[in-house]
Amino acid sequence: MRTLLRVLLLLQIVSVVVAFCLLMVAMTSKESVLLPLLLLFVSVLNIALVYVVLKNADEVDELKKDVAKLKRSTFAIFSQTPTLSENAPTEWECPKCGTKNRKGTQKCCKCSTRYFSVDQ
Ligand SMILES: [Zn+2]
Repeated sequence: MRTLLRVLLLLQIVSVVVAFCLLMVAMTSKESVLLPLLLLFVSVLNIALVYVVLKNADEVDELKKDVAKLKRSTFAIFSQTPTLSENAPTEWECPKCGTKNRKGTQKCCKCSTRYFSVDQ
């Protein structure tokens, strides 16, 4: 796609040169300059168009990279976030008061600190 656009841009540049030559020929031979002038105008317009599309394609690529980066960091954040208020799968020690709590509990029996599962 990108290569096609570059080829198109090159062809447009060639057609501008051709149009310019035609314009010069028409001017020196005192023929109508309307047609070569129109060709030149359209070619320049097309170059601008293809250039804008190429520029946008570059921006889309940048955005894709950013999205991939964001996806990665979001995934990293989510996989690090502890699950809140899970039932403890084993006996656990309260991080606040150090009380040993039974398996399957959600809160410390002494200070009511919630059990956090840190391993996924
Ligand atoms: Zn506690």
